[in-house]
Amino acid sequence: MKGTVVGTLAMAGSVAAFLAPSLPRHTNPAQCRRGATSKVSMSSTADVVDKKAARRKILQSDSYNRVGFKDEKEDVSALMSDEFTSDIISEFKENKGSITRGDTTFKLAEYYGFCWGVERAVAMAFQARKHFPDKTMHITNELIHNPGVNEKLDEMGVNFVPVSDKGGKDLETIDDGDVVILPAFGASLEEMQTLDEKNVQVVDTTCPWVSKVWNTVDKHTKAQFTSVIHGKWAHEETVATASFCDKYLVVKNMAEAEYVAAYIANGGGDKAEFMEKFKNAMSEGFDPDVDLVKVGLANQTTMYKRETRDIGKLFEKTLMEKYGPAEVGEHWMAFDTICDATQERQDAILELVEEEIDLMLVVGGWDSSNTQHLAEISANKGIPTFWVNKANCVKPDGSIAHVDPHSMEELRTENFLPAGEIVIGVTSGASTPDAYMEQAVENISMLKKLAAAA
Ligand code: SF4
Repeated sequence: MKGTVVGTLAMAGSVAAFLAPSLPRHTNPAQCRRGATSKVSMSSTADVVDKKAARRKILQSDSYNRVGFKDEKEDVSALMSDEFTSDIISEFKENKGSITRGDTTFKLAEYYGFCWGVERAVAMAFQARKHFPDKTMHITNELIHNPGVNEKLDEMGVNFVPVSDKGGKDLETIDDGDVVILPAFGASLEEMQTLDEKNVQVVDTTCPWVSKVWNTVDKHTKAQFTSVIHGKWAHEETVATASFCDKYLVVKNMAEAEYVAAYIANGGGDKAEFMEKFKNAMSEGFDPDVDLVKVGLANQTTMYKRETRDIGKLFEKTLMEKYGPAEVGEHWMAFDTICDATQERQDAILELVEEEIDLMLVVGGWDSSNTQHLAEISANKGIPTFWVNKANCVKPDGSIAHVDPHSMEELRTENFLPAGEIVIGVTSGASTPDAYMEQAVENISMLKKLAAAA
């Protein structure tokens, strides 16, 4: 059913009307968001300088803002409340996380929706738009992985930086005097350096949890350790994190970690196979026979937290067995960079799937890694799971447009709601406003009501 998701979320219009000047638009975000990741390709300058020092210098620039705009806070917070909060949350809270509409009970996970880092990023972007009403404004990627929020930025006249012919971002579209927003999952050092060389104002909404991971890889680099990053090599956050590393290898799951650990334990293996397997996921010049002797762990903040911990334990055990307990400190480095918000949402759905649930509704962007993991947890439990990115995925004809969290295939399921009394589990990703989840719940309630009346 590719391409059949139609319509847009109800746009109250207030944000756009209040914040959007008539500004030129370089790009339709729909044309560039999905392709806006690429394998890290560091500039030669960044290869030779101390990357931490380079970043610090950029952050200290007068044209670099990392805290938002105090004067705009009050107005923006009122706007965000209007746009993104939902009355249904109070209803859930008053009823111990469970509400019933006709023959349908909805059970909300204990933790769901907007995390602190995402809320902060959205507030900073809205504040920036209000603070620079006449400036041409860009964002280097999706601010967060939510289509509705990104559409709002588009309506406010924020240009999404397009992908160049070579696969990276086309920062040439940014002119002197423009304002550039960096998204919640950050930007690569290469992008930061290019922007620093331009006469532009940067508003950096990078979540402090992501910066914490960067500080960790700085420590690896300083100690000449290789950073093993638990993440997806093409994900924007991992691209950014990798750009701050000297040597890195990205492993996406436990299976890949086990492969690497076996290579370490055996003192080598099929090197050609290794190089092919990780060809997009390693730093330039990476040599598994040389660069896996001293290893530090880092993570993409939205990965399975338990898996990150397990991967850490695996590497620690492997290196301890290889070099002995007394020497392991010379070969293994780990810091806790697990983001609380991701952990809480994963723990909450793990609890919810233990209840009597007929189906699970997961609301969040289809390119949102943390939402994908929430849907996977539910699907792995054998619960029919419908991962929607917008409320209008729930169709008036009784079907639902959704994505399978394992295959990432876009699907359409007819008559997805069982007749009679049912219990629906509900959760939403860290980049999903409560109002969007409420709309999806209301659409389902309406379908059930119509079916009952038929
Ligand atoms: S999920 Fe965690 S790391 Fe990501 S924006 Fe939210 S708080 Fe920050």
